[in-house]
Amino acid sequence: MTSLGELLKKAISKFISSTSVDVNTVNELVRDLQRSLLIGDVSVELVQKISENVRRRALEEKLPPGISRKDQVIKIVYEELVKLLGEEPAKLKIPKDRRYVIMVVGIQGFGKTTSIAKLAYYLKKNDYDVGVICADTYRPGACDQLEQLLRDTKIPVYRHDGEKDPVKIVKEGIERLTSDGVKVILIDTAGRHKSQETLMEEIRVLQREIKPDEVMLVIDAGIGQQAGVHAKAFHEAAPVGSIFLTKMDTSAKGGGALSAIAFTNARIKFIGTGERIDDIELFNPSRYVSRLLGLGDIEGLLEKFRLAELEMDKKRAEAFMRGEFTLEQFVKQLKDLRKAGPLSKLISKLPLPGVQNIPDEALRNADKQIDKWYAIVCSMTPEERTDPHIINSSRIKRIARGAGVLEKDVKNLIKQYRLAKKFMKTAKRLPKKFLEKV
Ligand code: GDP
Ligand code: MG
Repeated sequence: MTSLGELLKKAISKFISSTSVDVNTVNELVRDLQRSLLIGDVSVELVQKISENVRRRALEEKLPPGISRKDQVIKIVYEELVKLLGEEPAKLKIPKDRRYVIMVVGIQGFGKTTSIAKLAYYLKKNDYDVGVICADTYRPGACDQLEQLLRDTKIPVYRHDGEKDPVKIVKEGIERLTSDGVKVILIDTAGRHKSQETLMEEIRVLQREIKPDEVMLVIDAGIGQQAGVHAKAFHEAAPVGSIFLTKMDTSAKGGGALSAIAFTNARIKFIGTGERIDDIELFNPSRYVSRLLGLGDIEGLLEKFRLAELEMDKKRAEAFMRGEFTLEQFVKQLKDLRKAGPLSKLISKLPLPGVQNIPDEALRNADKQIDKWYAIVCSMTPEERTDPHIINSSRIKRIARGAGVLEKDVKNLIKQYRLAKKFMKTAKRLPKKFLEKV
């Protein structure tokens, strides 16, 4: 079966190879994304949210100079997926000063034991007093494997050969390790049983009896959408709090993770990137998504955007200061300004003669005014927005009706716009300090 990563990649490369970018190609991309995410068992609500955001942004966002529409859409898809995965790189969030028990669960062969050794080693290097309990009574040699992996680290491993009850082993282990001064305790559990039901029953009983501080689910990056099914089963037995995604170094690129997090609401904390004990990294959503989508140089693309946007901002600001702005840009600029706080506060701080004399009432009205103006601009045609000269009285009537305002409001906006333009043209005479502030 095709993995989520491959489906997403296919959707993007289909989009990249289309000859032009318009509403139709964007809609088609969004449909392909939806289909891929749904096949990948990502929840309907999440799929809806991502695809709405992608569509809206792809159609609305301005294209910075020197950037192709395709690059822009790829960046949007990338950013929306990163948002889904939690944006910020994962944090350890393990206390140092009290006992903290992590029960690690997952299907046999996914890399549970290896990941526990990696995590223990990682924690030790970060100054944690860490110990491990082997509670996999099902797999022969499981405890030997754990000891072998940790041989050179001086990390204690608790085992009780011959004891078949994992709850008993874990209880003994916690007691022993705690009395030896260990604070963070990792528990290796069975990943296979006589049947799936008895395995889940064992995990359920462990959860009930041990009440670990954190349940960490180990998922093999290569298993694709099946990850969702496993995650669901474990999550029902013991609420999963974090995910360890293994084998990110192999050819599979871990599309299953999206499904796993959708089922558990847990975040990916670590990834495994090889078989050695130090092949472990804290999860970084942006790096993961660019691997998933096969985007080679996403950093380069983002940097290109950043520079282009800076350039655009600079050009726009310069043009604005010269009084070169359309009605639409005028209202947008006011809206942007307001993001920095209420306009009334902003204006009163400007080093302009007479500002102190503007009545508070008028300033407060200015804030309300902007929303009204925005509605007015929205109900204008593109021609009217760029060239308000053509707005005659019949147009004013239509615009006012569309925006739900009075005709005099429309006239007032046009008048303010003209005044602002005139003001900016003469503003060159104002002190430089003021220009920098605006
Ligand atoms: P468990 O049955 O879930 O405990 O899995 P193991 O820890 O025994 O690992 C199963 C296999 O996967 C072993 O051969 C590991 O070396 C390998 N493995 C685990 N994690 C990784 C990883 O991040 N990268 C690679 N390449 N192999 C891994
Ligand atoms: Mg194991």
